[in-house]
Amino acid sequence: MVGACLFCEIVARRSPADVEYEDDEVLAFRDIYPKAPVHLLIVPKRHVESVQTLEPEDGPLMGRLLLAARRVGEAKGFAERGYRLGINCGPEGGQQVPHLHVHFLAGRKDERRVERR
Ligand code: AMP
Ligand code: ZN
Repeated sequence: MVGACLFCEIVARRSPADVEYEDDEVLAFRDIYPKAPVHLLIVPKRHVESVQTLEPEDGPLMGRLLLAARRVGEAKGFAERGYRLGINCGPEGGQQVPHLHVHFLAGRKDERRVERR
């Protein structure tokens, strides 16, 4: 699985990506089809398929993904303005890449209106 996984290939630097954040457990890179002015994908370096397959021991890793989102928000200048995080889960949840990832979306003005409707 690992060899065939797109995001594992990006983590291993065998596939190209615009990396914006990295620590020992997490990598964040630009989405190639951005849906907002800033659209990053925050992924665990270790292959985890989906929220649907999370094990109790993966809890701290999920926390690391969210803390990375906070760091990304600060680094990109959205700490105060805010941003949207999204996790698609499985086929009917819109998950196309079966390696857990958090979408980080920021800077789209109409996002705010939609959220407050
Ligand atoms: P999801 O539909 O939640 O699985 O999201 C997968 C995301 O990965 C989509 O927003 C795609 O645009 C993005 N994507 C697919 N291939 C790549 C790639 N090689 N580099 C960066 N982002 C990608
Ligand atoms: Zn993977």
